[in-house]
Amino acid sequence: MTLRKGEKMTISIQEHMAIDVCPGPIKPIKQISDYFPRFPRGIPAAVTRSNSLKSNVSQPSVSPSESSREEEEDVDKLFGAYGAASTTTTTTTIAAPAKHDEEVDLDGYDSDDCTTLGTLDFSLLYDHENNALHCTINKAKMPKVYNRKGLKPMDHNGLSDPYVKLHLLPGASKANKLRTKTLRNTLNPTWNETLTYYGITDEDMIRKTLRISVCDEDKFRHNEFIGETRIPLKKLKPNQTKNFSICLEKQLPIDKTEDKSLEERGRILISLKYSSQKSGLLVGIMRCAHLAAMDANGYSDPYVKTYLKPDEDKKSKHKTAVKKKTLNPEFNEEFCYEIKHSDLAKKTLEVTVWDYDIGKSNDFIGGVVLGINAKGERLKHWFDCLKNKDKKIERWHTLTNELPGAVLSD
Ligand code: CA
Repeated sequence: MTLRKGEKMTISIQEHMAIDVCPGPIKPIKQISDYFPRFPRGIPAAVTRSNSLKSNVSQPSVSPSESSREEEEDVDKLFGAYGAASTTTTTTTIAAPAKHDEEVDLDGYDSDDCTTLGTLDFSLLYDHENNALHCTINKAKMPKVYNRKGLKPMDHNGLSDPYVKLHLLPGASKANKLRTKTLRNTLNPTWNETLTYYGITDEDMIRKTLRISVCDEDKFRHNEFIGETRIPLKKLKPNQTKNFSICLEKQLPIDKTEDKSLEERGRILISLKYSSQKSGLLVGIMRCAHLAAMDANGYSDPYVKTYLKPDEDKKSKHKTAVKKKTLNPEFNEEFCYEIKHSDLAKKTLEVTVWDYDIGKSNDFIGGVVLGINAKGERLKHWFDCLKNKDKKIERWHTLTNELPGAVLSD
């Protein structure tokens, strides 16, 4: 500090404090969060606000419902993956007694995104008997500051036209998508709408993840993505409704490699029965669900073909009727393959779904192969049919875009 002639020496109060105060050893500065008690999780409104103030210091737990060890681990995990924390890493389940039909999962309330992206309440129910996954989208709460981000000054009321989109992962096809209706001009949308995936198998429940995203519909631009959450289906117990109240997160990257190898084209319900009376295999093509759209109108005109291979005399081809302009066709048709029960084990049933087109070649939608060399549900269905003569066994199967050994032409 240099002084010119005639100038008075002045020291600001800050400098004064810096120079004169704090003799003695330097003490660690108290974290802001030390001044606040740690709320037990499950009080979302209170917790959301304090999120931004949270320190990296483990706090003693005051939550009566959890052990402090768990709590600390959760905090470590959260900070380990900070910014990209998925719902699985911050999961805290307030476990209800097993006999109760409903559980509450307060996922993600520790996330910073709560304040910026909003929260979503929904419930999931896997109806095991009917192979259906019911997703009830209740409501969302979205903060005003996020919406439009001032991008739309003509209509800058700070409100949104939100809708919710569902997507089963892995699976890139449009066939996997469901969505709610759009609600206009609101930051507190209440949909109370149930969207259902049909043909969900136990294998899906182990392997798949439900992606739920909230978007803002915009007539003049691309619809704007607001936030999403992902629920691994293995978190659900059959026939038990599970309630979620979740902080939305930014878009998480999708594993592309996984998607490519397993592109799904829809689902098909097939029945199999070996009839000793007819001495043949009865193949029932019941229905399909969530088929991929092949036509420009957003639909397909599906029909199903079956082959029993190897097929020396080329007589095993059967075809259903064509169902016009639908992604969820019901066929309810049955074909009989005359064959000795002892020969059946060596055979393979090939089922393919096609989109009928006028004036050009039909498009392949997807297929599935049942037989001794198949895997998972496909093998089990075949095996159960061989083992249980005269018993009709109905199963859902996932259609994929790849069909090993099949001739992909019609
Ligand atoms: Ca067509």
